[in-house]
Amino acid sequence: MSDIVDVHLLNETVKTKQLNKMYKISKEFHFSAAHKLEGLPADHPCSNLHGHNYIVIVELEASELNEVGFVTDYRKLSPIKEFIDKYLDHQNLNDALDFNPTVENIAKFLFKTFEKTFPQMVTITVKETPGIAVTYSPMFDAHPDKIG
Ligand SMILES: [Zn+2]
Repeated sequence: MSDIVDVHLLNETVKTKQLNKMYKISKEFHFSAAHKLEGLPADHPCSNLHGHNYIVIVELEASELNEVGFVTDYRKLSPIKEFIDKYLDHQNLNDALDFNPTVENIAKFLFKTFEKTFPQMVTITVKETPGIAVTYSPMFDAHPDKIG
């Protein structure tokens, strides 16, 4: 199979290298924490200190499996759980983090913290409530290289 594929964008078709990432795995982590958001009107409910049961979903991709048949052993992701338990769980995020603790910022922070440890990681999604999700991925910024 050719590794050059057509990618259909809004108004044009470009040829790009096939990424061939055929396996995606994810693992979910949980923590409870308090925060209030800066920069909002005083009457905005998120300006008051309040809490969430956060959900963090880490996704990893691979084109080939290891000798066992895994993308990676889920147990190898335990440093993420240990970090969350130690620095985020049952904390006031305004004290624990040096940025405005929106889910967007938390997702980026977690990705940046672990991107070197887990090069197969492609996204981190953070949820404050079950119905709302923010996903951070450097891949969202990747445009296909035009080669033809
Ligand atoms: Zn909140």
